[in-house]
Amino acid sequence: LTQRIAGEGASAWNIHFRAKARQASGEDVIILSVGDPDADTPPAIVDAAVSSLRSGATHYADVQGKPPLREAIARHHRARGGHGEAGAENVAVLAGAQCALYATAQCLFDPGDEVIVPEPAYVTYEAVIQSTGATPRWIPLSPETGFQPRVEDLKAAIGPRSRAILLNSPHNPTGQCLTAEQWEEIAALCRDHDLWLIVDAVYADLIFDGEHVSPDALPGMCERTVIISSLSKSHAMTGWRLGWAVGPRELMAHLVNLALCMLYGSPSFIQDAAVAALEDAPAALDTMRETYRERRDAVVETLASSEVIATLTPAAGMFMMIDIRATGLSAHAFADRLLDDYGVSALAGEAFGASAAGFIRLSLTVPAARLREACQRLERCARECQATSRLAQRPLD
Ligand code: PMP
Ligand code: GLN
Repeated sequence: LTQRIAGEGASAWNIHFRAKARQASGEDVIILSVGDPDADTPPAIVDAAVSSLRSGATHYADVQGKPPLREAIARHHRARGGHGEAGAENVAVLAGAQCALYATAQCLFDPGDEVIVPEPAYVTYEAVIQSTGATPRWIPLSPETGFQPRVEDLKAAIGPRSRAILLNSPHNPTGQCLTAEQWEEIAALCRDHDLWLIVDAVYADLIFDGEHVSPDALPGMCERTVIISSLSKSHAMTGWRLGWAVGPRELMAHLVNLALCMLYGSPSFIQDAAVAALEDAPAALDTMRETYRERRDAVVETLASSEVIATLTPAAGMFMMIDIRATGLSAHAFADRLLDDYGVSALAGEAFGASAAGFIRLSLTVPAARLREACQRLERCARECQATSRLAQRPLD
């Protein structure tokens, strides 16, 4: 197991820790290497947690999740296009989307199974799948098609060991969303080949362009789809560790059994605060979405005139992919140079898979003015790297 969980999920953050250490020692470092919102949790949610604590919510809670929270999650899920009959019995509350993904994988995958995943993919997927003894079957995406998966490639990967397709929409790191048409084709694949569809939808409340589609609402899909989400990003609640899975009732029973031997339920007062987040904080959510949209636009605008780097405009989320292929450096080498010489930290695309090797990922987690400053440093770094690589490649006279 230790080997199977030791990949990029564990090591991708090293550059982030280096950047934090340098910032702590007083250096002017702009940290864009992690998706942790810079905003604090909205006060109404904090107040709900405090008042719940004061009223004695300090005991074990229902292991599947407190019924009012599961009902609130089911309503939230239906309001985002989820299956119209999804109710509290279809929800399991877990410690963040990460824990929900891990628990779902443990309950669905067996050793030898294959799980089809487009790549680039969020850094933990590999370890989550491998921890069960299953194997990820990566489907490389192309920057030339904006990292959009092609359904025929997913289809071609299906074989006798295939157990599930794992998709992340809106996507980290690319910020792309699957269209209604793509979901319909993917749903047909799952039905025809008897596959589970696992959807990581943590950025579904942060869509700028377009609408979120929830494939469990498509015919014949609610019995084979698990939708995973959390409050971490949408409500600036990464540290609260509150997420969930929505899926068939029988699967929920297995998740509860796993939660019984792993967590014994999520903290009661945090669940009460989560109800407040889902029911009473729509304005906070709008502000959050607008803030990321403005920041995205600030990066696009600042880098628009660059002749070295290009941006891939995200339709959602809090990240942005920057194409650094023209610098002649690998993304790892470029990210190191950007931090060491220009004081900006970003993740190298390779952390998400080989297909993103020519890209770095910026997190939109500092105010727009600071992002513009980061982009200017990034552009200077790219120009210098390109000039150095060209010099190195020049034939000797
Ligand atoms: N999936 C994706 C795509 C993510 O970006 C993250 C990180 N926020 C997670 C899952 C884990 O989220 P959480 O903080 O809710 O565990
Ligand atoms: N999901 C966040 C990201 O992609 C961060 C999660 C973490 O800190 N491990 O950056």
